[in-house]
Amino acid sequence: MLTFLDHIPDGLLSCSASGLQAILPGPTLIQLPGRRPRPLFVSVLLHGNETTGLAAIQSLLDKYRDKQLPRELCIFIGNVTAAAQGKRHLDGQPDYNRVWPCTGFADECAGNTEEHRMMRQIVDHMHQRDVFASIDVHNNTGLNPHYGCINKLDNRFFHLATQFSRTVVYFIRPTGVQSMAFADICPAVTVECGKPDQPHGAAHAADFINSCLSLAEIPAHDIASHDMDLFHTVATVSVPEHIRIFFDGDDDRRVPSRDEIHFRPDLDHLNFHELDADITLGYVHPQLNTLPLQVIDEQGNAVAARYFRVHDGKLHTTREVMPSMFTLDETVIRQDCLGYLMERMPVKEDE
Ligand SMILES: [Zn+2]
Repeated sequence: MLTFLDHIPDGLLSCSASGLQAILPGPTLIQLPGRRPRPLFVSVLLHGNETTGLAAIQSLLDKYRDKQLPRELCIFIGNVTAAAQGKRHLDGQPDYNRVWPCTGFADECAGNTEEHRMMRQIVDHMHQRDVFASIDVHNNTGLNPHYGCINKLDNRFFHLATQFSRTVVYFIRPTGVQSMAFADICPAVTVECGKPDQPHGAAHAADFINSCLSLAEIPAHDIASHDMDLFHTVATVSVPEHIRIFFDGDDDRRVPSRDEIHFRPDLDHLNFHELDADITLGYVHPQLNTLPLQVIDEQGNAVAARYFRVHDGKLHTTREVMPSMFTLDETVIRQDCLGYLMERMPVKEDE
């Protein structure tokens, strides 16, 4: 299902994500020569509605229209058919950022769809090409700063990620993501560029890709602790399917029924803020004594009670915690999750 190209096809630099289908037959790997060998790998549109990566690549390639690239560049344009419909993925398709090979989690990554095989083919191909580094460009739907995600605690990964943002998130769940597959073969980062259609998101991603293309090497020495805010994703928060979701929670609203949660309307404003214990996130039926949230830690354990409790019709935090990617978009909540919980990690430095 993968198309290989060694040139920029006509129309690619000016088309919209929804118009790509007229130019590309499907998922496509475009390999472009540059001054230095060892290609930089960049993937865009693994989620068809996250268009910032395409816009970044378009402006970068436009900049080098009459110039040689400083380094070989391999661009993977992912879910072209979902992009045509402005969706993360189509019904019947897997999520293109959950089907990458992952060593160490064989039981969770045993899928063998056409998409699994394609992602394996890409990783093997880039391994053979001695890939220099990997960047996967995404958007999210809540209110979040721009930040990088890594799956390995390694100085080269820290240096790569902090070229994009001083805010860096380390995670090992969910598995099957692009940056985790590439972490086995080169420094790899996922960059979260805020909401789609924000021009500064595309400009930031384009600048980042350009500076990586121009790097001779990625340093392996320690990073200064004041140059990075490192967080660790410790759990994934979802809403069980039978619970109905609202974002109109406040103290004087009518009493919710037992199958409803009324989150506070500014839930996504809590992202990347360190919350105290006893912060109210939403409102539930006053006699409800089971948590209307599912929280799964990195080991796959259900740990909702470690972070949340319901009391007197309110859903509270029980300890200091920092949310990320909390979203008000019900489609995303149902297809993926409500968001993640993080804890700050110390950055160790040799004296
Ligand atoms: Zn995404």
